[in-house]
Amino acid sequence: MDAPGKLIPVPTQETAPFWEGCKAGELRLQRCADCGRYQFPPQSFCRSCAGGRLAWSATSGCGKVLSYTIVYWSPNPAYAADAPYSLALIQLNEGPRMLTNVTGCPPRQLQIGMEVKVVFEQCGPAIMLPKFQPL
Ligand SMILES: [Zn+2]
Repeated sequence: MDAPGKLIPVPTQETAPFWEGCKAGELRLQRCADCGRYQFPPQSFCRSCAGGRLAWSATSGCGKVLSYTIVYWSPNPAYAADAPYSLALIQLNEGPRMLTNVTGCPPRQLQIGMEVKVVFEQCGPAIMLPKFQPL
């Protein structure tokens, strides 16, 4: 039996515009036409006002490290070669939070409050994953 590979997201009807944005090099989030708030992950109604008029909007792709951990060992061999790596909660400038990796700097140099910007990393043949790098 083959060892499990890295997890590759499978777009759904609700998330497809997000993944299309990633392929185009844009971090696109749903934005409510009624209250103006951005939200992530995608949903069929606004989590703030329950309105149903959501549209996809490009964001700055910028944010700050809200919290993080460093992974030194993974039970999945597909990720073991990447260790140590960070798993970080990013507070996007537009409001929503995103759990992802910070790349482009050694994990031990990460700091709470560090300003970061999105980068996109190929993951499987058809998916670009949003990750973040220090500014
Ligand atoms: Zn709303």
